[in-house]
Amino acid sequence: MTEQHFPSASILGYPRIGVHRELKRVLEDFWSGKTSGVQLVATANQLRCSRTERLHSLGLTEAGSIPEDFSYYDQVLDIIAATGAVPTRFSEERKALAAAGPDLWHASDSSTTAALEALFTIARGEGARPALEMTKWFDSNYHYLVPEIGPETKFEWLGSTRSRAAALLGEGVRPVLVGPVTFLLLSKPSEEAGEDYDILARLPEVLSVYEALIDDLVSAGASWVQFDEPALTSDRWAYSRERIIAALTESYERLSVRGASLLVALTYGHAFDAVEALAATKVQAVAIDLVKGKTPDAQTLAAWNKAWAGRTIAAGIVSGRNVWRTNLRAALGQLRELKENLGQVHLAVTTSTSLQHVPIDVEKETKLDPQVASWLAFADQKVEEVVALAKGLEEGDEAIEAELAASDAAVESRQSHPGVRRAEVRERTAAVTAADRERAPYAERAAQQAERLHLPVLPTTTIGSFPQTVEIRKARAAHRRGELSAADYEQAMKAEIEHVVRVQERIGLDVLVHGEAERNDMVQYFAENLEGFATTVNGWVQSYGSRCTRPSILWGDVVRPAPITVKWSSYAQSLTDKPLKGMLTGPVTIMAWSFVRDDEAPGEVADQIGLALRDEIADLEEAGIPVVQVDEPAIRELLPLRKENEEEYLQWSVGAFRLATGGAQSKTQVHTHLCYSDFKTVIDAVDRLDADVTSIEASRSRMEILPAIRERGFERGLGPGVWDIHSPRVPQVEEIVRLLQAAVSGLGIEKLWGNPDCGLKTRAYTETIPSLENLVAAAKQVRQRHQ
Ligand code: GLN
Ligand code: ZN
Repeated sequence: MTEQHFPSASILGYPRIGVHRELKRVLEDFWSGKTSGVQLVATANQLRCSRTERLHSLGLTEAGSIPEDFSYYDQVLDIIAATGAVPTRFSEERKALAAAGPDLWHASDSSTTAALEALFTIARGEGARPALEMTKWFDSNYHYLVPEIGPETKFEWLGSTRSRAAALLGEGVRPVLVGPVTFLLLSKPSEEAGEDYDILARLPEVLSVYEALIDDLVSAGASWVQFDEPALTSDRWAYSRERIIAALTESYERLSVRGASLLVALTYGHAFDAVEALAATKVQAVAIDLVKGKTPDAQTLAAWNKAWAGRTIAAGIVSGRNVWRTNLRAALGQLRELKENLGQVHLAVTTSTSLQHVPIDVEKETKLDPQVASWLAFADQKVEEVVALAKGLEEGDEAIEAELAASDAAVESRQSHPGVRRAEVRERTAAVTAADRERAPYAERAAQQAERLHLPVLPTTTIGSFPQTVEIRKARAAHRRGELSAADYEQAMKAEIEHVVRVQERIGLDVLVHGEAERNDMVQYFAENLEGFATTVNGWVQSYGSRCTRPSILWGDVVRPAPITVKWSSYAQSLTDKPLKGMLTGPVTIMAWSFVRDDEAPGEVADQIGLALRDEIADLEEAGIPVVQVDEPAIRELLPLRKENEEEYLQWSVGAFRLATGGAQSKTQVHTHLCYSDFKTVIDAVDRLDADVTSIEASRSRMEILPAIRERGFERGLGPGVWDIHSPRVPQVEEIVRLLQAAVSGLGIEKLWGNPDCGLKTRAYTETIPSLENLVAAAKQVRQRHQ
């Protein structure tokens, strides 16, 4: 057992996609058959090497300071593959993985290619075999693949994505793996298992696999191994805290004595009881999240000082979740205070989480306002911050004078920029009253809307977007490049809107939409049209697999300089006598899918966006638009990992939505849309939004949510989705009738709407038209039965 200290400066993980999204390109080429498995492995290895070199040159020079967390697709999929926890529908794939064995990530022969294909089939599904479910990783916007565990699961070490990488890159790197407790807590019961199958009871078997894995890493030359255990910072699990802590203790008692020094990372929040439990094992280092988590008090620190004497606590003080420069002087002060209290402990500096949530290099941003750019730190800049802080902690302020001066200057520049605090915005948010978040009673609104809209029972509508065709994308790209004039672009969009309106009229939908052709993305579009936001040119972040997004940066007070959507919506309304639904993205979703300023309370930021949307709704009303939808698909995603923080979150998030919609007249019908199936968790919150109509995802779960809704009682309009738009399948009339009937018997027909699960932008017209025709036909049948 090596008694070495964990490196003084380190990071917990780094983006895997490459500065130029090389991984995305090579993956997609491999999937389409344009590139061989050999080439894929070669590119991946190149990426790994170049990123190790890069991190080394940025100052991560101590042995074990560079994380090896590369993944072809997803870190949870890697542990599924390594432990053999592959669902039975993929038993052929499991064989291919086993045949390639531990050399999978190293050799480049036909068994490697077969194993890689197997891995991607599990991730992406094939034919009638659905892929593993994808879900958001803690409260981030990254999606992992959900393991399915049941009595049939046979845990067995099939090979590791990390071990050969360690051999490839030498001793300097530190392999990173999802830890066993988090792995099992993130899993769901397989189809063979019952709903309340005890997944955690499989821990001892899983640990045997992890032991084999560590042994292999040690033989490949790794001296430090990192296990990520973010599940410990959440309390949204089906198991008691005692049981989870006991599982943690059992795991690391076994894993910490295999010849590698272990770092256990407790990220995305605080888990002081886990820090304490780990101290009782032979784990050499623990990483804590000081950005999202609580600051430990004097008593906690005194206990840690004793319990962790001679070992390392790595302070995660540089945020892995946002793009703001760290205030180095303040951080150094905080670290010094910790050090004073932890005299017996080796205090190391690290990031709060992996840097996988942030873009790679701010230097690549050529179009950002230079002043705003000077406030930002992407992954590479954050590595430099960690290195500077470790140095400053060791050698004093003098050693990092230049870094401190630059950080001070950024703090100062940010405070004094006129766009950061705008008097007119602050006066408005300060003057908001409870009445601004309140509409007339629902009954009154419903009566006025019925009189105005003349809708049939069980009205049909869509969620907003229509297929984004190649022509639409081409027109947008040409406009961006300056090849298509603003007038011609507007003409092209209007032609598209007319097409979408005519299609809906012909199909016979009741509430029409304009189709959102003009939007590249439902958040970025608003970010580009509001002041206070910046957008990047290369700020890509992995969302899942080869998918990347480019979140906008919300840096200042939010102002709507001009109406945003009114032109499009009112043009669409001018074409038809049917009611048209205006489309807006809600404050919480705009915040969840952007990098949000860290110098202001989320409630203030949300209210500023809420007021901008409120003005937009007033303008839509003025233009005669009778229905407005405010999408909030991200309300669930930002739900705090700990229940104790839930009410505070709901206060500001629901409050901002209601501020946005609270000015709407009674005769304006306000819709909202949420897209995820575990609606139960947020049903109270959704009720508090007080929208007239709420559409939700429901078809994939076969209306499983209905009992919860009925039990809870939901008084306003509800549209449980009856067409799973994530699948290219066209739903048949009988099938939709069945789903609608189930909803009618659960909820009654009066409040029910017929609609798809989500927007149609990723679908083709060849699927969209027959599916919507079937939806309308099904709604008619169900209406007739209930007349
Ligand atoms: N109105 C959006 C659309 O239809 C909603 C998308 C979403 O829920 N993610 O595309
Ligand atoms: Zn949706």
